[in-house]
Amino acid sequence: MSRVTVLAGGVGGARFVRGLAHHLPGAEISVIANTGDDLWLAGLRVCPDLDSIMYTLGAANDEQRGWGRVGESERVSAELTAYGVGWPWFTLGDLDLGTHIARSALLRDGLTLTETTARLAARWNIGVRLLPVTDDEVETHVEIVDPETGAVRVIHFEEWWVRHRASVPARRFLHRGVDSATATEEALDALRTADIVLFAPSNPVVSIGTITAIPGITEAVRAASGPVIGIAPIIAGQAVRGMADACLRAIGVDTTASAVGRHYGAREAGGLLDGWLVDETDAASVAELEEAGIRTEAVPLWMTDVQASAAIAAAAVALAERLR
Ligand code: GDP
Ligand code: CA
Repeated sequence: MSRVTVLAGGVGGARFVRGLAHHLPGAEISVIANTGDDLWLAGLRVCPDLDSIMYTLGAANDEQRGWGRVGESERVSAELTAYGVGWPWFTLGDLDLGTHIARSALLRDGLTLTETTARLAARWNIGVRLLPVTDDEVETHVEIVDPETGAVRVIHFEEWWVRHRASVPARRFLHRGVDSATATEEALDALRTADIVLFAPSNPVVSIGTITAIPGITEAVRAASGPVIGIAPIIAGQAVRGMADACLRAIGVDTTASAVGRHYGAREAGGLLDGWLVDETDAASVAELEEAGIRTEAVPLWMTDVQASAAIAAAAVALAERLR
């Protein structure tokens, strides 16, 4: 298994990829990352999921808080707020702002997001190829009913997620700009040449769902010559570390590992997966998933530390090997 390609969101994706790299130190790992959370803020291009992965693999992330840079301060953000620029509820740390300034500068110099990401990641020796799914700006927006005015409004995903903590029901998710977007050649090539394709235990709607919504990706996953194995981001009916349940509700999928697996669907039946890992507490759902054509195994899925994430990656790779 020398070439592994992972579809990943931010925090869940980063934890998983760190374990995968630990399990397969010699492998060529490509990570196709969600860019739907990206936005222009205070004149800067902010890419939350790319940065979560970069900081985590670069050992620069704040483990305690779960996101952002370790040793962070917020002096610049306070200045921006004093000027009424940006979003006061969306704090950008000073060190993190350095990343956004560097990224915006490279983009303004004419580099693509893929090239820009490679330049930023080079500093951190992350050990994997970090690939934005698209170089086009495709931003996830959320249709809500404004709790104050009762009017239907569309807001950026980060406003819904961070400001409203996903507490205002999402009527639907929109991928702004998707019609004129394409997946990058690098991402498509990583799927084409992979010995295994893995879906990280990431948000099925606004991380994996956004990646697969980018034109070209779903077709490339279906056409991949290696097995496609997913890891359930839901354990015992709970959205672990996050609010994935609020996203699943909007698309009418139950918050269970089984419902998410069947939502992705079996590749042999026109879906995306050959294999699926559920947590050991969800072992009762193995039979119905197998009936749906998805080879399923129940193993511990809590990514408590690098070793635990590596064990999950090992189980995914072992399942892929049996399916080859
Ligand atoms: P985000 O972009 O930062 O929201 O991160 P992701 O989309 O990559 O991952 C968030 C999702 O990861 C959460 O909604 C959870 O469903 C899942 N998750 C987080 N921690 C764990 C864990 O320890 N085990 C499993 N199986 N899933 C997890
Ligand atoms: Ca995200």
